[in-house]
Amino acid sequence: MAPVYFTPGPAQLYPTVAGHLQNALDKQVFSQSHRSQAFKDLYRRADEGLRALFGLPQDYAIYFTGSATEIWERSLQSLTAQHTYHLVNGSFSKKYLDHAKWLGRDAQALQVPFGQGFSLDTVKVPAEVELLAITQNETSSGVCMPVADIHALREKYVAPLISVDMVSGAPYAALDFSQVDMAFFSVQKGFGLPAGLGVWLVNERCRAKAATLEGKQYTGGHYSIASLQDQYQQFQTPCTPNVLDIYLLTHVVEDMLQKGVAQIRKETETKAAKVYSFLEESALFAPFVQEKAHRSPTVIVADVLEKPAVEVISMLKAKGLVVGSGYGAFKEKQIRIANFPAVSEQQIDVLVEALRLL
Ligand SMILES: *Cc1c(COP(=O)(O)O)cnc(C)c1O
Repeated sequence: MAPVYFTPGPAQLYPTVAGHLQNALDKQVFSQSHRSQAFKDLYRRADEGLRALFGLPQDYAIYFTGSATEIWERSLQSLTAQHTYHLVNGSFSKKYLDHAKWLGRDAQALQVPFGQGFSLDTVKVPAEVELLAITQNETSSGVCMPVADIHALREKYVAPLISVDMVSGAPYAALDFSQVDMAFFSVQKGFGLPAGLGVWLVNERCRAKAATLEGKQYTGGHYSIASLQDQYQQFQTPCTPNVLDIYLLTHVVEDMLQKGVAQIRKETETKAAKVYSFLEESALFAPFVQEKAHRSPTVIVADVLEKPAVEVISMLKAKGLVVGSGYGAFKEKQIRIANFPAVSEQQIDVLVEALRLL
């Protein structure tokens, strides 16, 4: 039997991917020009599906890039001249901050220890800040920011653009896009697709801000918001895009819509509850994140108490269950379990049972 990947990206492929891939090969989709009507129709279909899945307000545009990392950089280039503010609680939120510093921005941050989230009353965004960067799900530590907290920040801070990294939270996170200005993800996590595509959701406020900066400084060249928007109006892209992933994403999003996003969220919570309640009662494992409201349903991080984590990982691997190692310095002591829509409740049951028998 093929192993099951509970890794937080690349991750288990969504169950329908193989069939869609074969169909695309049969139809020779990957040889068609990206300037053809067939590609425009595909982009339009992706756009419709993603709008429905996320409940996007009318003014949002959807752009494709090479990765989420690229969107960190492009968003800072297109949307900020000087001042950014970052909520940092792990490696991915830290990297968004690093990109701002690399670009010479005056980047401020509120940092909390690894494994912790933010209490809203400690967030103080200075008036001059142009972009507030939030990582909705910190894949390195298994901490999420409840979407209600993100919405509360919008109420408090009207001026800055709010950018949400939802790479490992989408499509589970029920973000209200009218309360933020942009969000993004790459497809190898919650969507269960091969890596190599970033998806950038951008509202009119961002485009207006980008227009004020255009020409004044380097704004991101071919993947600037101006260039992406110009092409998007014809369902085109500035360069030859990852048509394979766009095709698979379009079809997987339609499958998810068929199932219903509410159902996906419910299943995610049911599966997460099974893993967390096992971790709580286990003598060998413990949930790393203490604050229950900040425990991610999509990336679950466990401390391994009596064995080296590598041993646990290899014992599980021998049973065809691939879990992620702890991130960076936590490699020796933790495992990470991705609970994305591609893994079924039954597969989670098998994993929990295997953890129990260790
Ligand atoms: C994986 C990840 C990224 C980076 O995604 P790439 O597709 O590798 O660029 C960014 N943010 C978060 C939260 C992630 O989990």
